Amino acid sequence: MKMTEEMLSQVRGSIRHAKNSAFYQKHFEGIESDDIKTLDDFRRLPFTDKDDLRGAYPMGLCAVPTDEIVRIHSSSGTTGTPVIIPYTQKDVDDWAIMFKRCYETAGITRADRIQVTPGYGLWTAGIGFQLGAELLGAMAIPMGPGNTDKQIRMMIDLRTTVFTATSSYALLIAEEIEKRGVRDQICLKKGVIGSERWGAKMRKRIASELGVELYDIYGLTEIYGPGIGINCDMSESMHIWTDYMYFEIINPKTLEPVKDGESGEIVITTLQKEGAPLIRYRTHDLTREVIEPCPCGSDYPRIDAIIGRSDDMVKVKGTIIFPSKVDEFLAGVKDASSEYQIMIDHMNGRDQMTLFFETKLKPGAERQALEKEVEQGFKKSIGILAKIRAVSIGELPRSEKKTTRIFDNRY
Ligand code: ZN
Repeated sequence: MKMTEEMLSQVRGSIRHAKNSAFYQKHFEGIESDDIKTLDDFRRLPFTDKDDLRGAYPMGLCAVPTDEIVRIHSSSGTTGTPVIIPYTQKDVDDWAIMFKRCYETAGITRADRIQVTPGYGLWTAGIGFQLGAELLGAMAIPMGPGNTDKQIRMMIDLRTTVFTATSSYALLIAEEIEKRGVRDQICLKKGVIGSERWGAKMRKRIASELGVELYDIYGLTEIYGPGIGINCDMSESMHIWTDYMYFEIINPKTLEPVKDGESGEIVITTLQKEGAPLIRYRTHDLTREVIEPCPCGSDYPRIDAIIGRSDDMVKVKGTIIFPSKVDEFLAGVKDASSEYQIMIDHMNGRDQMTLFFETKLKPGAERQALEKEVEQGFKKSIGILAKIRAVSIGELPRSEKKTTRIFDNRY
């Protein structure tokens, strides 16, 4: 993306500051911030990846004296060493300012009541939604995840107007409200749905079942947390807060910048972070920059909704499979819901792929015919023959965190 002279000077400042950390002292050995005179110089800097952050465990990223740290967060890793991100008071405040800006971009005001269902704790999600709501002056209802009975009861009794969740938890709540027939007691107007890839079909379903406007919020624990970008009323692309971060889009294979507007991986450099500044951090999230100015008039640049992760791509029998492609394919199948899972196994010397998807159709001839239709359509649009298993609505797990769609059991 465009880099102004002012940003370039902020980048230099960030590099100078980052080199106070044990990690960047080593990672940027021999690199002086004053050597970075142009965007091209900047693009020659080495990337920082999640494994680097793991290697810096526990406090190797810390670029200030530790008594200036007021909080730590840790990014969710299913395996191995966690990543610890230390925050100064300014980092916490900046995050709240960005989050408030997200709410405002979504037309949320101090009159709103915001029910926060993402988790609290080491994971950054819940507390970020809370901070932004309080700074805005709205009423925060800090539920955290789970306990659907209580969620719905609070939603009714406290007249919640804004619901914040992961897409899969939003779907679960929408289904429960439908099942209990309490929709006319719900005052929801908007949903802010956090940072995971979700297809158009799922979005439509949550929006129509809850009867709300949905907003897609972006972020990751390594860079503050959720709240570093959100879509506005005029567009489904997300505005990003480039006064705090510089965004690049690179080709994840060649690691070169893509052409303007092409899809690639988001790489972020923090411009103001004190506790754990990151330079050219590879997010592995895939999207593209939207070049056209937004009809809403905001000067903040836009990125499209996240289409997947560069490490979510799986290769089966020589074919690359992308969760977003499967979303798109299922969106076009009339009786298939947006929920699916793919299992990849290695059996009898061969890779075997099974697609499970949910349908309202009852077991029997109709469901079998649907499976046949999906098998042929899948082969045609994804390019691979898979075993197809239709299951009933609600049978596949809904997650309170991020939904995993593809399970690769081969290794
Ligand atoms: Zn806009």
